[in-house]
Amino acid sequence: MAGTVLVSGGSGYIAGFLIRQLLAEGWTVHATVRSLSREAQLRPLLGGTAETLRFFAADLTADAGWAEAMAGCSHVAHVASPFRADAPRHEDELIIPAREGVLRALRYARDAGVTRFVQTSSVAAIAYGHGKGVFEFTERDWTNLDGADVYAYVKSKTIAERAARDWVASEGGGMEFVSVNPAAVLGPVWSGDFSPSIEVVRQLLSGALPGCPDLGFGIVDVRDVADLHVRALTAPGIAGERFIASGPFLKIADVAKVLKANLGPQARKVPTRKLPDWLVRTVALFNPVIRQVTGELGNVRGASSDHARSRLGWTIRPVEDSILDCARSLIERGVVKV
Ligand code: NAP
Repeated sequence: MAGTVLVSGGSGYIAGFLIRQLLAEGWTVHATVRSLSREAQLRPLLGGTAETLRFFAADLTADAGWAEAMAGCSHVAHVASPFRADAPRHEDELIIPAREGVLRALRYARDAGVTRFVQTSSVAAIAYGHGKGVFEFTERDWTNLDGADVYAYVKSKTIAERAARDWVASEGGGMEFVSVNPAAVLGPVWSGDFSPSIEVVRQLLSGALPGCPDLGFGIVDVRDVADLHVRALTAPGIAGERFIASGPFLKIADVAKVLKANLGPQARKVPTRKLPDWLVRTVALFNPVIRQVTGELGNVRGASSDHARSRLGWTIRPVEDSILDCARSLIERGVVKV
C-alpha cells in the first residue's frame, strides 16, 4: 500500500527514518519543517526526488502552510512536538505547541479528506504519575497528571494525546486515529541534529557523566519505531488504538556496561560507578534538568509492546544494536570525541 502521506516535523530524528522507509516503500511524502531553509540540508539525507519528497513550511503554533501541506494526502504521521534537552522556564512552552499543534494538524487533515492519522505520542502519556515501584505498563494505562513525577514534557505528551482523542471523537468525521507510544528512542543518528533521547549515550561516551544515576528507561530502536509508524498508517481495523513501542527497560548503568563491553578504547570515558541518590538530589538543587527526573530514581517503568507484536506483527532488534549503532554513529560524525 502506498499513497501520499504528510509527515510533520520532517527535520526530526524519528521522522527522518520514517520518511526514508516511506519513500523506499513507494509513498509520496509531504514533509513539514518550520522553515524551508532546512530543505537543502535535509533532502540529500532523506533521499527521494522532487516529485516524491516535497517540503512545506508549517509551524505547530500557526495556521500558515498546513492546508497546502495536507492537499492530496490520504495519510498523516504527526511526529512534530516540542522535545528539548533542557528544562523549559514554563511548562506551557511545551504543552501549548504540543496540544495546539496536534489539534491543528487534525483539523487540516480532516478538511483535506485524510483517512488515517497517526500521532507520535509517547510512553510519557502512559507511565507517569503512578508513584514509585516496578511497573509493566500497557496501552490501557494513562499518565496521572496529578502525580509528583509529572514534568513538563510528560504533561505535554499526555495532554496532546488526550486532546487529540477527544477531538477525533467529536469532530473527526470518518478519519481514523491511531497513536504510536514509543519509549526512549536510540539507534544511529542520521544528522547532526538529533533527538534529546540520544543525550544519555552522548554523555556517557564523552565522559560528561561522572557516574551512573539510578535512572532507567525502556529502549526502542529508531528504525523499529519508524517501522511501527508505517504499520500503524496502513494496517486495517485499528482505528482508535494505541501501540506501545518499547524494548527492554535498562538502567543507565546497563547502557554503560554495553558500551564498555563492546567499544574497547572508544568507551574509556564511560563511567562504571553508580552515583548515590543523595548526590543526584544534591546536583538537582542547582540543575533544573536533573531536578525534572529525580522522582524517577529507583523506578522501573517498563512498558509492554505485546500489542504491537501480536496485532501488527512488529518485531524489534536487540537493544545492544540500538545502543552500539547510536554510539558508533556519534563517534563517526565527530559528535563526541572519545
Ligand atoms: P526531535 O528530533 O527533536 O524532533 C522533534 C521535531 O518536532 C523536530 O522536527 C522539530 O522541528 C519539531 N517541532 C518542535 N516544535 C515545533 C513547532 N513549534 N513547530 C513545528 N515543528 C516543531 O525528536 P524526536 O525524538 O524525533 O521526536 C519526534 C516525536 O517523537 C516527538 O513527538 C516526541 O515527543 C516523540 N517521542 C520521542 C521519543 C524519543 O525518545 N526520541 C520517545 C517518545 C516519543 P525543528 O527541527 O525545527 O526543531
